[in-house]
Amino acid sequence: MSIQIKAVLCGDIQENAYLAWAEGREDCVLIDPGDDLGRLKQALGGRKLAAILLTHGHFDHILSAGPLSVETGAPVYVSAEDVELLDDPVKNGLVGLMGVGEMPGPSIAPTLFGEALSVAGLDLQVLPTPGHSKGSVCLYLPGKGVLFSGDTLFRAGFGRMDLYGGDHRQMLASLKGLFALPPETRVYPGHGGSTTIGEERSHYRL
Ligand SMILES: [Zn+2]
Repeated sequence: MSIQIKAVLCGDIQENAYLAWAEGREDCVLIDPGDDLGRLKQALGGRKLAAILLTHGHFDHILSAGPLSVETGAPVYVSAEDVELLDDPVKNGLVGLMGVGEMPGPSIAPTLFGEALSVAGLDLQVLPTPGHSKGSVCLYLPGKGVLFSGDTLFRAGFGRMDLYGGDHRQMLASLKGLFALPPETRVYPGHGGSTTIGEERSHYRL
């Protein structure tokens, strides 16, 4: 069964949300619903939202998670280490980057990721990749050769490490781990266009 992926560009920081579903199924997952509830709902169409998956807790990847979860009943998965960011506009960057001091409601009731997750016909591995935030994860579909890399790995770059919980050494270790994945793995990052592990690995001497 092949996977379908639809990128939805959201908000002032142009973050990528991704809808993903197994071909032939009516349900889907939504990864990193950013700051454009209207566009995300339009992209969903009539598809049933089975789960919302957060690669990390920064505001630009979570702002539509609360309202969509309340409206659809879909659980919101996040790593334990980034739960503290969800309701905290200082820690999640909303104050520092946008000058906004209050999170818009409703707040997110988080469900914690395990090491793997099977949902909407997709078998995901949850790879801990700290460095951009303490609890950053990448979502890997080994059978499909697909990686959702959040703000850890971008096309021609990687995530900043100067925000709350950022760590240079952890980022290096996380990138090394990702570069051990098959080179043909297609990478869907939290900002910018898609790439492959092989293409990105060629830029580094790790
Ligand atoms: Zn981020």
